[in-house]
Amino acid sequence: MRPATTAIHGGFDDDPETGATAVPIYQTASYAYASAGELADVFHGRAPGHVYSRISNPTTHALERRLAQMEDGLGAIATASGMGAISAVMLGLLRGGDELLAVRGLFGGTVSLFHNILTRFGIKIKTLPPDADAFARAVTPATRVIFAETITNPTMDVPDLEALSRVAGEHNIPLVVDATVTTPVLGPIKRFGVDVVVHSTTKFINGHGTAIGGAIVDTGSYRWAKGRFDDLATLAGRAEQMAFLARLRNVVYRDLGACPAPQNSFLMLQGLETLPVRMPIHCENARRLAEFLDGCASVKWVNYPGLADSPYRPTVNRLYSGCGGALLTFGLADGADPFACLDALRLARRMTNLGDAKTLALHPASTIFAEYDARRRTEMGVTDDMIRVSVGIEDFEDIREDFEQAIAKAME
Ligand SMILES: *Cc1c(COP(=O)(O)O)cnc(C)c1O
Repeated sequence: MRPATTAIHGGFDDDPETGATAVPIYQTASYAYASAGELADVFHGRAPGHVYSRISNPTTHALERRLAQMEDGLGAIATASGMGAISAVMLGLLRGGDELLAVRGLFGGTVSLFHNILTRFGIKIKTLPPDADAFARAVTPATRVIFAETITNPTMDVPDLEALSRVAGEHNIPLVVDATVTTPVLGPIKRFGVDVVVHSTTKFINGHGTAIGGAIVDTGSYRWAKGRFDDLATLAGRAEQMAFLARLRNVVYRDLGACPAPQNSFLMLQGLETLPVRMPIHCENARRLAEFLDGCASVKWVNYPGLADSPYRPTVNRLYSGCGGALLTFGLADGADPFACLDALRLARRMTNLGDAKTLALHPASTIFAEYDARRRTEMGVTDDMIRVSVGIEDFEDIREDFEQAIAKAME
Protein backbone atom coordinates (compact mmCIF):
# COMPACT_ATOMS: atom_id res chain seq x y z
CA MET A 1 0.00 0.00 0.00
CA ARG A 2 1.10 3.56 -0.74
CA PRO A 3 1.25 6.09 2.14
CA ALA A 4 -2.17 7.72 1.56
CA THR A 5 -3.76 4.26 1.57
CA THR A 6 -1.81 3.04 4.62
CA ALA A 7 -2.98 6.14 6.51
CA ILE A 8 -6.56 4.89 6.09
CA HIS A 9 -6.26 1.11 6.05
CA GLY A 10 -2.99 0.39 7.86
CA GLY A 11 -2.93 -1.59 11.09
CA PHE A 12 -6.57 -2.64 11.22
CA ASP A 13 -8.93 -4.90 9.29
CA ASP A 14 -12.67 -4.64 9.85
CA ASP A 15 -13.61 -5.97 13.28
CA PRO A 16 -14.14 -9.73 12.77
CA GLU A 17 -16.98 -9.91 15.27
CA THR A 18 -19.10 -6.94 14.25
CA GLY A 19 -17.75 -5.74 10.90
CA ALA A 20 -17.05 -2.29 12.39
CA THR A 21 -14.71 -0.40 10.05
CA ALA A 22 -13.69 2.22 12.63
CA VAL A 23 -11.16 0.90 15.13
CA PRO A 24 -13.17 0.02 18.27
CA ILE A 25 -12.21 1.91 21.43
CA TYR A 26 -11.20 -0.79 23.91
CA GLN A 27 -11.83 1.27 27.03
CA THR A 28 -10.53 -1.38 29.39
CA ALA A 29 -7.75 -1.51 31.95
CA SER A 30 -7.16 -5.24 31.81
CA TYR A 31 -8.03 -8.51 30.01
CA ALA A 32 -9.44 -11.80 31.33
CA TYR A 33 -8.38 -15.29 30.19
CA ALA A 34 -10.23 -18.61 30.39
CA SER A 35 -7.40 -20.32 32.23
CA ALA A 36 -4.50 -19.38 34.48
CA GLY A 37 -2.18 -21.10 32.01
CA GLU A 38 -3.30 -18.88 29.12
CA LEU A 39 -2.80 -15.77 31.23
CA ALA A 40 0.68 -16.96 32.17
CA ASP A 41 1.51 -17.59 28.49
CA VAL A 42 0.38 -14.10 27.43
CA PHE A 43 2.19 -12.56 30.40
CA HIS A 44 5.44 -14.14 29.35
CA GLY A 45 5.01 -13.44 25.64
CA ARG A 46 4.57 -17.10 24.69
CA ALA A 47 1.12 -16.34 23.27
CA PRO A 48 -0.21 -13.13 21.66
CA GLY A 49 -2.60 -10.96 23.65
CA HIS A 50 -2.91 -8.10 26.10
CA VAL A 51 -2.68 -8.22 29.88
CA TYR A 52 -2.85 -4.64 31.10
CA SER A 53 -3.43 -1.37 29.22
CA ARG A 54 -0.35 0.33 30.69
CA ILE A 55 1.64 -2.18 28.60
CA SER A 56 -0.59 -2.63 25.54
CA ASN A 57 -4.14 -2.06 24.36
CA PRO A 58 -5.85 -3.18 21.11
CA THR A 59 -6.92 0.35 20.04
CA THR A 60 -3.46 1.72 20.73
CA HIS A 61 -1.95 -1.29 19.00
CA ALA A 62 -3.80 -0.46 15.76
CA LEU A 63 -2.32 3.05 15.94
CA GLU A 64 1.15 1.62 16.55
CA ARG A 65 0.91 -0.70 13.55
CA ARG A 66 -0.36 2.06 11.27
CA LEU A 67 2.40 4.46 12.35
CA ALA A 68 5.08 1.79 11.96
CA GLN A 69 3.84 1.08 8.43
CA MET A 70 3.79 4.78 7.53
CA GLU A 71 7.36 5.18 8.82
CA ASP A 72 8.44 1.94 7.13
CA GLY A 73 9.66 0.83 10.57
CA LEU A 74 10.03 -2.39 12.54
CA GLY A 75 7.39 -1.38 15.05
CA ALA A 76 6.08 1.50 17.11
CA ILE A 77 5.05 2.37 20.65
CA ALA A 78 2.39 5.00 21.19
CA THR A 79 2.73 7.19 24.28
CA ALA A 80 0.59 9.60 26.28
CA SER A 81 2.43 12.62 24.85
CA GLY A 82 5.34 13.64 22.67
CA MET A 83 7.33 14.27 25.84
CA GLY A 84 6.43 10.76 27.02
CA ALA A 85 7.94 9.39 23.81
CA ILE A 86 11.18 11.38 24.10
CA SER A 87 11.55 10.56 27.82
CA ALA A 88 11.11 6.83 27.19
CA VAL A 89 13.68 6.80 24.38
CA MET A 90 16.27 8.72 26.41
CA LEU A 91 15.74 6.71 29.60
CA GLY A 92 15.84 3.54 27.52
CA LEU A 93 19.21 4.38 25.98
CA LEU A 94 21.18 6.59 28.36
CA ARG A 95 22.78 6.08 31.75
CA GLY A 96 24.95 8.23 34.04
CA GLY A 97 28.24 9.18 32.42
CA ASP A 98 26.81 9.02 28.88
CA GLU A 99 26.77 11.98 26.55
CA LEU A 100 23.93 13.21 24.36
CA LEU A 101 24.65 15.45 21.35
CA ALA A 102 21.64 17.57 20.47
CA VAL A 103 20.98 20.07 17.74
CA ARG A 104 20.25 23.62 18.96
CA GLY A 105 16.79 25.16 18.92
CA LEU A 106 14.85 22.10 20.08
CA PHE A 107 11.27 22.16 21.37
CA GLY A 108 11.21 23.83 24.82
CA GLY A 109 9.95 20.75 26.68
CA THR A 110 12.75 18.67 25.18
CA VAL A 111 15.37 21.25 26.21
CA SER A 112 13.96 21.19 29.73
CA LEU A 113 13.91 17.36 29.87
CA PHE A 114 17.54 17.25 28.76
CA HIS A 115 18.85 20.02 31.02
CA ASN A 116 16.60 19.82 34.08
CA ILE A 117 16.13 16.04 34.33
CA LEU A 118 18.71 14.02 32.38
CA THR A 119 21.61 16.07 33.78
CA ARG A 120 20.48 15.13 37.32
CA PHE A 121 21.28 11.52 36.46
CA GLY A 122 24.80 12.35 35.32
CA ILE A 123 24.03 12.53 31.59
CA LYS A 124 25.99 15.22 29.78
CA ILE A 125 24.24 17.31 27.11
CA LYS A 126 26.10 19.10 24.31
CA THR A 127 24.08 21.50 22.15
CA LEU A 128 25.42 22.05 18.63
CA PRO A 129 24.53 24.03 15.50
CA PRO A 130 22.75 22.05 12.76
CA ASP A 131 25.99 21.19 11.04
CA ALA A 132 27.28 17.63 10.66
CA ASP A 133 30.94 18.71 10.97
CA ALA A 134 30.25 20.22 14.40
CA PHE A 135 28.73 16.87 15.45
CA ALA A 136 31.69 14.93 14.05
CA ARG A 137 34.07 17.09 16.10
CA ALA A 138 31.99 16.77 19.29
CA VAL A 139 31.71 12.95 19.38
CA THR A 140 33.66 11.32 22.24
CA PRO A 141 33.83 7.71 23.44
CA ALA A 142 31.01 8.57 25.89
CA THR A 143 28.58 9.74 23.17
CA ARG A 144 25.57 7.43 23.08
CA VAL A 145 22.85 9.33 21.20
CA ILE A 146 22.59 12.05 18.55
CA PHE A 147 19.28 13.90 18.70
CA ALA A 148 17.75 16.30 16.16
CA GLU A 149 14.43 17.62 14.93
CA THR A 150 13.49 17.61 11.23
CA ILE A 151 12.76 21.35 11.31
CA THR A 152 13.50 23.25 14.52
CA ASN A 153 11.10 25.82 15.87
CA PRO A 154 11.09 28.79 16.10
CA THR A 155 14.58 29.04 14.55
CA MET A 156 13.47 27.01 11.49
CA ASP A 157 16.80 25.27 11.00
CA VAL A 158 16.63 22.20 8.76
CA PRO A 159 19.44 19.82 9.79
CA ASP A 160 20.82 17.70 6.97
CA LEU A 161 19.76 14.30 8.30
CA GLU A 162 21.75 12.41 5.67
CA ALA A 163 24.96 14.11 6.81
CA LEU A 164 24.09 13.62 10.50
CA SER A 165 23.37 9.94 9.97
CA ARG A 166 26.75 9.50 8.28
CA VAL A 167 28.44 10.90 11.40
CA ALA A 168 26.27 8.74 13.67
CA GLY A 169 26.98 5.66 11.53
CA GLU A 170 30.75 6.20 11.54
CA HIS A 171 30.70 6.13 15.34
CA ASN A 172 28.01 3.45 15.70
CA ILE A 173 25.68 5.85 17.55
CA PRO A 174 21.92 5.82 16.96
CA LEU A 175 20.41 8.93 15.39
CA VAL A 176 17.12 9.81 17.09
CA VAL A 177 14.96 12.39 15.31
CA ASP A 178 11.78 14.20 16.36
CA ALA A 179 9.72 14.38 13.14
CA THR A 180 6.66 16.09 14.66
CA VAL A 181 6.68 19.03 12.25
CA THR A 182 7.26 17.04 9.06
CA THR A 183 5.08 14.01 10.00
CA PRO A 184 5.37 10.60 8.30
CA VAL A 185 3.86 12.24 5.19
CA LEU A 186 6.98 14.26 4.29
CA GLY A 187 9.03 11.23 5.38
CA PRO A 188 9.61 8.47 6.06
CA ILE A 189 12.95 9.72 7.36
CA LYS A 190 14.25 6.17 7.62
CA ARG A 191 15.53 6.72 4.09
CA PHE A 192 18.03 9.28 5.42
CA GLY A 193 19.44 6.77 7.90
CA VAL A 194 17.45 7.84 10.98
CA ASP A 195 17.38 5.00 13.52
CA VAL A 196 14.61 6.04 15.92
CA VAL A 197 11.79 8.45 15.03
CA VAL A 198 9.72 10.21 17.68
CA HIS A 199 6.51 12.19 17.19
CA SER A 200 4.22 14.40 19.16
CA THR A 201 1.00 13.06 17.63
CA THR A 202 -0.76 15.98 19.36
CA LYS A 203 0.16 18.15 16.41
CA PHE A 204 -0.41 17.36 12.72
CA ILE A 205 -1.20 13.65 13.20
CA ASN A 206 -4.18 14.44 15.42
CA GLY A 207 -4.64 17.54 13.31
CA HIS A 208 -7.58 19.04 15.15
CA GLY A 209 -6.20 19.85 18.59
CA THR A 210 -8.36 17.27 20.37
CA ALA A 211 -5.84 15.11 22.30
CA ILE A 212 -2.25 14.86 23.53
CA GLY A 213 -0.15 11.93 22.31
CA GLY A 214 3.22 10.71 21.12
CA ALA A 215 4.94 7.81 19.39
CA ILE A 216 8.30 6.06 19.02
CA VAL A 217 9.27 4.15 15.87
CA ASP A 218 12.34 1.93 15.51
CA THR A 219 13.20 2.10 11.81
CA GLY A 220 15.31 -1.05 12.06
CA SER A 221 18.52 0.52 10.77
CA TYR A 222 20.54 0.46 14.02
CA ARG A 223 22.08 -2.95 14.74
CA TRP A 224 21.38 -3.38 18.45
CA ALA A 225 23.34 -6.65 18.55
CA LYS A 226 26.49 -4.78 17.53
CA GLY A 227 25.66 -1.47 19.15
CA ARG A 228 27.08 0.56 22.00
CA PHE A 229 24.48 -0.59 24.53
CA ASP A 230 25.50 -3.69 26.49
CA ASP A 231 22.03 -4.51 27.80
CA LEU A 232 20.45 -4.19 24.35
CA ALA A 233 23.24 -6.18 22.70
CA THR A 234 22.62 -9.00 25.19
CA LEU A 235 18.87 -8.82 24.63
CA ALA A 236 19.43 -8.79 20.86
CA GLY A 237 20.76 -12.34 21.27
CA ARG A 238 17.09 -13.38 21.74
CA ALA A 239 15.01 -10.51 20.39
CA GLU A 240 17.39 -9.57 17.52
CA GLN A 241 16.39 -6.31 15.84
CA MET A 242 13.35 -6.03 18.11
CA ALA A 243 15.62 -5.62 21.17
CA PHE A 244 15.04 -1.89 21.65
CA LEU A 245 11.27 -2.06 21.18
CA ALA A 246 11.08 -5.12 23.43
CA ARG A 247 13.02 -3.39 26.20
CA LEU A 248 10.90 -0.28 25.86
CA ARG A 249 7.63 -2.22 25.96
CA ASN A 250 8.55 -4.63 28.73
CA VAL A 251 10.60 -2.34 30.94
CA VAL A 252 10.89 1.38 30.20
CA TYR A 253 7.43 2.15 28.77
CA ARG A 254 5.78 -0.24 31.20
CA ASP A 255 7.54 1.28 34.21
CA LEU A 256 7.27 4.96 33.29
CA GLY A 257 3.52 4.66 32.76
CA ALA A 258 3.10 7.18 29.91
CA CYS A 259 0.57 5.03 28.04
CA PRO A 260 -2.14 6.74 25.97
CA ALA A 261 -5.83 6.52 26.81
CA PRO A 262 -7.56 4.24 24.24
CA GLN A 263 -9.93 7.09 23.33
CA ASN A 264 -6.93 9.27 22.43
CA SER A 265 -5.42 6.51 20.29
CA PHE A 266 -8.72 6.43 18.40
CA LEU A 267 -8.50 10.20 17.79
CA MET A 268 -4.93 9.80 16.49
CA LEU A 269 -6.00 6.98 14.15
CA GLN A 270 -8.77 9.17 12.81
CA GLY A 271 -6.36 12.09 12.37
CA LEU A 272 -3.89 9.91 10.47
CA GLU A 273 -6.55 9.03 7.88
CA THR A 274 -6.59 12.58 6.49
CA LEU A 275 -2.98 13.57 7.25
CA PRO A 276 -1.75 12.89 3.67
CA VAL A 277 -4.48 15.22 2.39
CA ARG A 278 -3.97 17.93 5.01
CA MET A 279 -0.18 18.14 5.06
CA PRO A 280 0.32 19.45 1.50
CA ILE A 281 -2.30 22.16 2.13
CA HIS A 282 -0.57 23.19 5.39
CA CYS A 283 2.73 23.46 3.49
CA GLU A 284 1.24 25.29 0.50
CA ASN A 285 -0.62 27.80 2.69
CA ALA A 286 2.54 28.37 4.76
CA ARG A 287 4.64 28.99 1.65
CA ARG A 288 2.07 31.40 0.25
CA LEU A 289 1.76 33.26 3.56
CA ALA A 290 5.57 33.48 3.83
CA GLU A 291 5.74 34.89 0.30
CA PHE A 292 2.93 37.36 1.03
CA LEU A 293 4.64 38.56 4.24
CA ASP A 294 7.97 38.76 2.43
CA GLY A 295 6.41 41.23 -0.01
CA CYS A 296 4.78 43.39 2.73
CA ALA A 297 6.40 46.80 3.20
CA SER A 298 5.62 46.72 6.95
CA VAL A 299 7.26 43.31 7.49
CA LYS A 300 10.97 43.52 8.35
CA TRP A 301 11.83 39.85 8.11
CA VAL A 302 10.29 36.42 7.43
CA ASN A 303 11.81 33.06 8.31
CA TYR A 304 10.39 30.08 6.42
CA PRO A 305 12.68 27.30 5.16
CA GLY A 306 10.58 26.88 2.02
CA LEU A 307 11.18 30.47 0.82
CA ALA A 308 13.23 30.69 -2.37
CA ASP A 309 16.02 32.68 -0.69
CA SER A 310 16.18 30.59 2.53
CA PRO A 311 19.60 28.97 3.06
CA TYR A 312 17.65 25.78 3.85
CA ARG A 313 15.71 25.72 0.58
CA PRO A 314 18.09 23.16 -1.06
CA THR A 315 17.84 20.85 2.01
CA VAL A 316 14.05 21.20 2.03
CA ASN A 317 13.99 20.28 -1.67
CA ARG A 318 16.27 17.28 -1.19
CA LEU A 319 14.76 15.85 2.00
CA TYR A 320 11.11 16.95 2.03
CA SER A 321 10.16 17.31 -1.66
CA GLY A 322 10.15 21.10 -1.35
CA CYS A 323 7.66 21.22 1.57
CA GLY A 324 9.01 23.63 4.17
CA GLY A 325 6.45 22.69 6.82
CA ALA A 326 3.61 24.76 8.23
CA LEU A 327 5.47 26.99 10.70
CA LEU A 328 6.88 30.40 9.95
CA THR A 329 8.07 33.39 11.95
CA PHE A 330 8.15 37.07 11.05
CA GLY A 331 8.86 40.47 12.53
CA LEU A 332 7.20 43.80 11.80
CA ALA A 333 9.01 47.04 10.91
CA ASP A 334 10.88 48.76 13.75
CA GLY A 335 8.67 50.29 16.41
CA ALA A 336 5.56 48.23 15.59
CA ASP A 337 4.00 46.32 18.49
CA PRO A 338 3.75 42.55 17.87
CA PHE A 339 0.95 42.34 20.48
CA ALA A 340 -1.11 44.87 18.46
CA CYS A 341 -0.78 42.64 15.41
CA LEU A 342 -1.67 39.47 17.34
CA ASP A 343 -4.63 41.17 19.04
CA ALA A 344 -6.01 42.35 15.69
CA LEU A 345 -6.12 38.84 14.20
CA ARG A 346 -9.72 37.72 13.67
CA LEU A 347 -9.33 34.28 12.13
CA ALA A 348 -6.00 33.08 13.54
CA ARG A 349 -6.19 32.03 17.19
CA ARG A 350 -3.77 33.38 19.79
CA MET A 351 -2.59 30.15 21.36
CA THR A 352 0.27 27.73 21.79
CA ASN A 353 0.16 24.34 20.02
CA LEU A 354 0.79 23.81 16.33
CA GLY A 355 -0.37 21.55 13.55
CA ASP A 356 -4.04 22.28 14.12
CA ALA A 357 -6.37 22.64 11.11
CA LYS A 358 -6.83 26.20 12.39
CA THR A 359 -4.20 28.91 11.92
CA LEU A 360 -2.54 29.71 15.27
CA ALA A 361 -0.22 32.55 16.21
CA LEU A 362 1.77 33.57 19.26
CA HIS A 363 4.57 35.76 20.58
CA PRO A 364 7.32 33.29 21.60
CA ALA A 365 9.37 35.74 23.73
CA SER A 366 6.51 36.39 26.19
CA THR A 367 5.14 32.83 26.27
CA ILE A 368 7.15 29.68 25.49
CA PHE A 369 10.50 31.43 26.11
CA ALA A 370 9.45 33.78 28.93
CA GLU A 371 11.37 31.69 31.49
CA TYR A 372 14.68 32.74 29.88
CA ASP A 373 16.25 36.20 30.20
CA ALA A 374 16.68 38.46 27.17
CA ARG A 375 20.30 37.46 26.54
CA ARG A 376 19.52 33.75 26.62
CA ARG A 377 16.52 34.29 24.35
CA THR A 378 18.71 36.04 21.80
CA GLU A 379 21.13 33.09 21.91
CA MET A 380 18.16 30.81 21.30
CA GLY A 381 17.22 32.87 18.25
CA VAL A 382 14.05 34.31 19.82
CA THR A 383 13.80 38.06 19.23
CA ASP A 384 11.28 40.36 20.93
CA ASP A 385 9.61 41.22 17.63
CA MET A 386 9.10 37.56 16.60
CA ILE A 387 5.58 36.34 15.79
CA ARG A 388 5.21 32.60 15.17
CA VAL A 389 2.44 31.24 12.98
CA SER A 390 1.28 27.65 12.58
CA VAL A 391 -0.50 27.93 9.27
CA GLY A 392 -3.78 26.04 9.05
CA ILE A 393 -5.76 24.61 6.18
CA GLU A 394 -8.39 27.34 5.84
CA ASP A 395 -8.85 29.00 2.43
CA PHE A 396 -5.57 30.81 1.82
CA GLU A 397 -7.27 34.10 0.88
CA ASP A 398 -8.94 34.24 4.30
CA ILE A 399 -5.61 33.65 6.04
CA ARG A 400 -3.90 36.31 3.92
CA GLU A 401 -6.65 38.87 4.49
CA ASP A 402 -6.50 38.26 8.23
CA PHE A 403 -2.77 38.96 8.43
CA GLU A 404 -3.04 41.87 6.00
CA GLN A 405 -5.64 43.67 8.15
CA ALA A 406 -3.87 42.79 11.43
CA ILE A 407 -0.54 44.14 10.18
CA ALA A 408 -2.25 47.32 8.93
CA LYS A 409 -3.80 47.83 12.41
CA ALA A 410 -0.45 47.27 14.13
CA MET A 411 1.14 49.94 11.90
CA GLU A 412 -1.50 52.62 12.62
C1 LIG B 1 4.80 19.60 20.94
C2 LIG B 1 6.11 19.02 20.64
C3 LIG B 1 6.68 18.05 21.49
C4 LIG B 1 6.01 17.60 22.77
O1 LIG B 1 4.83 16.94 22.51
P1 LIG B 1 3.61 16.87 23.56
O2 LIG B 1 2.64 16.00 22.84
O3 LIG B 1 3.13 18.26 23.78
O4 LIG B 1 4.15 16.26 24.80
C5 LIG B 1 7.89 17.52 21.14
N1 LIG B 1 8.54 17.90 20.03
C6 LIG B 1 8.03 18.84 19.19
C7 LIG B 1 8.79 19.21 17.98
C8 LIG B 1 6.79 19.42 19.47
O5 LIG B 1 6.29 20.36 18.64
